Amino acid sequence: MRILVTGGAGYVGSHAVQLLVASGHEVTVYDNLAAGHREAVPHGELVVGDLLDRDRLAGLLAERQIEAVMHFAALAYVGESVHEPAKYYRNNVAGTLSLLEAMRTAGVGKIVFSSTCATYGVPNRVPIPEDHPQRPINPYGCTKLAIEWVLSDYSQAYGWGVASLRYFNAAGAAINGLLGEDHSPETHLIPIALEVAQGKREQIEVFGNDYSTPDGTCIRDYVHVDDLASAHLAAIQRLEPGKRIQLNLGTGQGASVQQVIETCREVTRHAIPAKHSPRRAGDPPELVASPASALAQLDWSPQHSDLKTIVESAWRWFQAHPTGYTL
Ligand code: UDP
Repeated sequence: MRILVTGGAGYVGSHAVQLLVASGHEVTVYDNLAAGHREAVPHGELVVGDLLDRDRLAGLLAERQIEAVMHFAALAYVGESVHEPAKYYRNNVAGTLSLLEAMRTAGVGKIVFSSTCATYGVPNRVPIPEDHPQRPINPYGCTKLAIEWVLSDYSQAYGWGVASLRYFNAAGAAINGLLGEDHSPETHLIPIALEVAQGKREQIEVFGNDYSTPDGTCIRDYVHVDDLASAHLAAIQRLEPGKRIQLNLGTGQGASVQQVIETCREVTRHAIPAKHSPRRAGDPPELVASPASALAQLDWSPQHSDLKTIVESAWRWFQAHPTGYTL
């Protein structure tokens, strides 16, 4: 297929592009490089542009005869979204509406959308199935849920084939060592723990140790970024006119912050000092996916998502790229 990948220079997007290209698809990456990296697109074509540039997008879709879109481009810092909601609604909602208009103009009616477990808010129960109520507790989650609704209506009204994939905690680095995680600023648990192991930070803060979990720290469902990529490949092959898929992408296994830090210590053989800090606003105690529907509908299962493999792959990337993509 000829596929446009927005945000293809970002963390999850770049891993998906690598797999799409390796699987024989023709990929055009569209990214404004605000958070993405040119170096993260070694294969395929990179067009630098903004989602809000609807005419440019419509022209590109027509010119490249694009058949389907994978839409990763988004701002994704929960904390920032609380303080700067306008930025999030403009980029994630208005930006996506601009993309969807361009798709309508060009007659492209297939899309795989990056959604998130943040659309569930604080869950009533875990593991979380797809029909669990969606009540996001921060603007980031709200922007993603808004687009899920838009896509659902577009599917019904315009006969689009739509897949909304709700990621749990994307983690790790490409198993082939070519791609990895490079956020600025970095806020995620595993990269921060590994930066402590590298001596770039003195210690890691554990945000809250008084949650109602076995060791008191938050539990998350970490899923390897290459596994997310393979789920996208499976989803795009299953898009059918008028059909709407909404799936959780996780493993069904939770790990606590404490367990993740322990695994980082084991893999890196560094002490990784940790100190207890207050809870981080907006953190639900436990987020674990029920991946049963994704397993059944996509014929997919995570291959690299046990915690040790995730951390080992991330550690290889961090050691080979101590300053990220810009060496
Ligand atoms: N976390 C932490 N210290 C850090 C970064 C994260 O204790 O320096 C915790 C965070 O509170 C959450 C878990 O690690 O419970 C995963 O956080 P991350 O930011 O990696 O992903 P999120 O769950 O926010 O998508």
